[in-house]
This record gives sequence, structure tokens and C-alpha cells, in this order.
Amino acid sequence: MAKAKKPSIGASPGKSPAPAQRMRELEKEIRHHQELYYVKHRQILSDRQFDRLLEELAELEKQNPELAQKDSPTRLVGSDLDNKFDKFTHTIPVLSLANTYSTEEALAWAEKTCVETDSVLVEWKVDGATLVLYYESGKLVRAVTRGSGQVGDIVTTNALTIRSIPSVLTKPLNVVVRGEAYMRFDEFDSFNEQQGNIYANPRNLVSGSLKHKKSRETALRPIRWVAFEAFFEKSKSKSDSQQLTDLMDLGLPVFEDSISVPASKLAKTIESYKKKLGKLSFPVDGLVLKIDSLSRRLDLGHTSASPRWATALKFEPELGETTVEEIEVFTGRTGRVTPRARLAPVKLAGTTVTYATLHNADYIETLGVRVGSRVKVSKRGEIIPAVEEVIDQGSGPEFVFPKKCPSCKSKLERDEDAVDWLCPNPECDDKLMNTLAFYCQRKQMDIAGLGERNIEILYREGLIKHIPDLYTLGDHKTALEKKEGFGPKSVQIILDGVEESKKKEFKRVLPSLGLRELGHSVTEILIDHGLVSIDDIIEIASETDGVEKLQEIHGIGPNTAAAIVEQLTDKKILGMIKSLQTQGLQFVQKVEKSNLPQTFAGQTWCVTGSFVNFKPRDLAMEEVKKRGGKTVSSVSAKTTHLLAGEGAGSKLDQAKKFKTQILDEFEFLELIKNT
Ligand SMILES: [Zn+2]
Repeated sequence: MAKAKKPSIGASPGKSPAPAQRMRELEKEIRHHQELYYVKHRQILSDRQFDRLLEELAELEKQNPELAQKDSPTRLVGSDLDNKFDKFTHTIPVLSLANTYSTEEALAWAEKTCVETDSVLVEWKVDGATLVLYYESGKLVRAVTRGSGQVGDIVTTNALTIRSIPSVLTKPLNVVVRGEAYMRFDEFDSFNEQQGNIYANPRNLVSGSLKHKKSRETALRPIRWVAFEAFFEKSKSKSDSQQLTDLMDLGLPVFEDSISVPASKLAKTIESYKKKLGKLSFPVDGLVLKIDSLSRRLDLGHTSASPRWATALKFEPELGETTVEEIEVFTGRTGRVTPRARLAPVKLAGTTVTYATLHNADYIETLGVRVGSRVKVSKRGEIIPAVEEVIDQGSGPEFVFPKKCPSCKSKLERDEDAVDWLCPNPECDDKLMNTLAFYCQRKQMDIAGLGERNIEILYREGLIKHIPDLYTLGDHKTALEKKEGFGPKSVQIILDGVEESKKKEFKRVLPSLGLRELGHSVTEILIDHGLVSIDDIIEIASETDGVEKLQEIHGIGPNTAAAIVEQLTDKKILGMIKSLQTQGLQFVQKVEKSNLPQTFAGQTWCVTGSFVNFKPRDLAMEEVKKRGGKTVSSVSAKTTHLLAGEGAGSKLDQAKKFKTQILDEFEFLELIKNT
């Protein structure tokens, strides 16, 4: 039986409590999760479960209207308001849409709503965070979160760090644009990995980043933004789709696969969108369907909660049903203790799933999952599978989250948000093994033959403990070759891999050490700023005003600066770096020698916006560097050239101010064509 504390998930439909009692329970439960989600950016319910709570409450309110509360969560969109920020009352409606998980219901909505001449605009429902941009005379004056729908938080400085948001439009218009901030799967993965995988999904990370107190921290996160709806002060356009084209002309990013179709073609269009779903590089949780004509929208109006002229068709993540064979808890590189379910193998999204994340202790408790439970498991995009729902709890004992580190038995400590448990022991075996495994990963030093399994064997044998020990493995060659499962051939692969890693560039070595905040992007920023060796960085870090100096670098926020100083003045870490230097690893970034004529020598280039031929834009920077030019991340008086791609924002203004030479992609291609 489920505990009374969590009636939402495990409650059996057979014996329901009195409606009033159940409604109060549901209201409380929903508010609790809204606060966790919107204010703390943590998720302990799956979206579907959350929607079910709302649906159940809405149904009870329909049956018992006299018992419904005026401020019921069904009448309000969830609020992400946060005391840290100034508030702004939206001048446009930021409505939440009616939604359904059923294609039939969505088509029924169209049937009911559309007249013969109507077209329906179909758009991806991007799974990110709503961000409304207010432009006055073409200048971005305000960026505001959705907030309660009426009032939002002003996060303009954070929004300005998002590259796809232009600070100035191509025309001096007054327009409000509702859009969505989001993150691509691949960019989320590599950022999250560097941070010790603390974020459950891209959306969590995006909404947290928009609310970061320091915009320089926001700037480090690979956030994108896309426009979905325009509110022009004056506009000749008669439809939403025309207005989207207007937005593109203004330099705002718009998804090109948003299409307007006659209502009769809607079913077919929905099917073709569904087919694309598995191949998308960014998270979506459904489609938005809107009557395209603006005048028809006025006619249709809206209900107290949502417009009549639109609906959202949500997609169920692909779900598989299986049994939990074991609940395992393990300690990661950063000390975070994460639970996961070992599952009876189940086919899902083309792969066999045997493990699924359970996020954290609260998630397990809310779900009521146990060993032996029958569960539904989801897999979305590239994200690791998750246990979404318990179908049958089973008769096993309730799972108790351990109080001690599963590896070293240290007493666990709560993190700041009181969501995660951390192992505080720096010598914890699992932390050390995972640090070694991280270092050897493909995305890091890419050392062949040293996957998690082999690392564990070598670690348990006492042959490796810290990263430098990898470089003395050769001393144990004979002993290793005799070990079961190794043999001369595989030992040689490992030793060659280790040797090969000495050639890896500094910009690869530093992030591989797994130091806090010192990931790939921060390393690149430091190098671009002229700190081309570890000695340069250590020197700054050891100065009394090191934190301040590092913060002066564009893209380095206070947390990052403090973490760099703390770690690069730590004797143990410095000792490790020293011994890796002695082993011959690269701690100075090589400036690429190029055979090309150094036509850009003496020039300083800034590259901004997005490009057709240079994806990512670093490739354009490489072209500059190969020709002897220097690249910088912001435009100053010293910048000689700005290469401005699609959606180039504030840097373009800066360049105009400094009379920097500005080139577009085509001109740049012409320039490098002959060299
Ligand atoms: Zn431990």
C-alpha cells in the first residue's frame, strides 16, 4: 500500500477519499511540485504524472464545482516567479494552452473550431522556458520570463548573453515577441557531464540559467532561443505565419518547419511531424496547433484559462513496461549519490534498456518504486531512460535511501537545494574511479582500452588511484599481461593509448582533469584570452586579486573564477598537475602552424552569429587563426574585423561604434577562397 503522504501516484482508484479531501490533497501536491519545478528547477515528478494530478483535480472540480477553490492550480499557470528579480506585468497575453495527449482530441478541436477557410499553424512545442522579449524602436529593452502568466521576472541581462537573441532588430519597430529558450541535446550533454550530471534534462538547466543571479554564468551555458509569436504595434500581416516571416526579416530566429496547413490536411501533417520526432536535435514535448488568421482569433476569443483558437498536442514519451530488478545507488565523480533502477531488459526507441535513472531520493519516494515493482520507463531523445510511473508497486520492502556512501561508507550530506545527497570524502573510491573514467572517456582524453570496467580492475589491484598513475602503468606491464582478461595484446592497446594521450592538446587536457567549472568552454575562453598555458592560469589564480582578475574575462563568472582560484592553489591539485607535466603531457596550447599565407597577420577578428558553412562557428575562427589572425570573443577598439553571421546581435552595434570592418559570411568566403 502507498503511504497516505503520496496519494497521487499509488492511490488505488477503488477506494477514493471524499472529493473535498482529495481535492485539497491534490492542490497541495500540485503546488509543492510547481514550486520545486519553477523555483528550484528540480523535478521529482515526471511531466505526465504532473499532468495527471492536474487532470484529476480538474475532473473533480467539474463534478463538484461547489468545492473548487478560487485560486485552484487548475486556473493558474505554474509560476516561476522568484524574489531575486524585478517584476514586470506582461502587456501581451502569455496564456497557457489547453492540451491533450490524444491526436483524435486535437483533430476534434480543429473540427469544432475551424471554418472552411481556416488554416492551422503547426509548430513544435519546444520543451524549454518561455521568454518574452520587448523591443522598443528596434532595441531590446526587456526580457521577461513567463512568471505567473500575468507578471514575470525581468532577466534582460541574462537574455542578452544568449547568442540567438539580437539586442537590436533590423528595423526600429515596437514589437513584443514570445519565444522559448531551449538547449540542444548534444550541448546539454556535454555541459551537464562537465558539471557532474546534476541536471535532469535540458529544460531544467535552461530555466535555472535564465534565473541565474550572475549573467556571466548564464553566458557559459549553451542556451538558444526561438521566436513563436509576435505582437506588433502596427502590422499589415494578417496571419501568424506571415508575422513569423516578419520576425525573420527583423533578424529574429524562427523555426523554419512551422507550417500553416488547411484544417483538412492537419491529420497528415501531425503524422509527418511525429515521424521527425526521433531525429530532432532539441527537446520537444508535442505540437502547438493554432488558427493562423489573426482576425479569426479575435472572433474566437478565449476561456478563463486558455485561448479557444489554439491547442497543444502533447506527445507521450515512448514508454516501455518492465520490472525493477534492483535499485542501485552509486557515487559519481563529484560525490553526488544517484539512484538507478536495474530493469528486466525492455525494447525502447530502438534500443534495449536495462537501466533507468531514478533522479534522487525524493523521486523514488514520490513514485513509490521498489524492487519488484512493475514500472513504465521512458526514453526521450538522447537523454538517459527514466522510470516514469509505477503500475504495480509489488510486495517488496519499501526502498530506503542509504545514509552512507555506498562506496566509502562516509555519512552523506545534503546539497544546497536539499535534493541530492553527497559523499564528502575526497578519497572515496568511487569518486576516484569515476574521475579516472571521466579522464579516459572519448570526449576527454580518449584513451583506448580504459573503460569503466578495466579502470575498476586496475584500481582495485592498487595499480592506479590518481590520474598520474596511468602514466606509470608501463612499469607493471608483465604483471598486467598475466592478469585474467588482459593478455599482451590488450595491455599494449592500453599502454599505447596512454602514450598517445601525451600528444593531446592542452585545451583537451585541462577539462579532462575533472576540476569544478573547468570544462571545455571555460578552457577555450581562458586560452582565447591569452592564458595559453597552465602556468599562465596558475599565476593569475595565485595572485591576491586572482578572482577579480579572472572575472574580468568575458564569459567567466564569479563562481567559475572562485572555483578556478580555489582549485589551482590547492597543493594536491598542483602536485597532480606537476607530475603530469613531468610525464610529458601538454600544458601549453600549441599555436597551430599553418602552410597558408599569413594574410590575416596583425588582425583581430570577432566572429558572431550563425553560419551556413561554419558549424559550429569555431570553424570560421580556425580559418582566421590558420591565416595568422587572432580571434577574440568581444568587440573592442582593438578589434579589426567582425565576421557577422545570421542573428548577429549586440556585437554588430559595437563594431559599428568602433568602426570595425564588418563582413558577412559570403564576403568572408570570398576573402579566404584564394588562400
Ligand atoms: Zn564515498
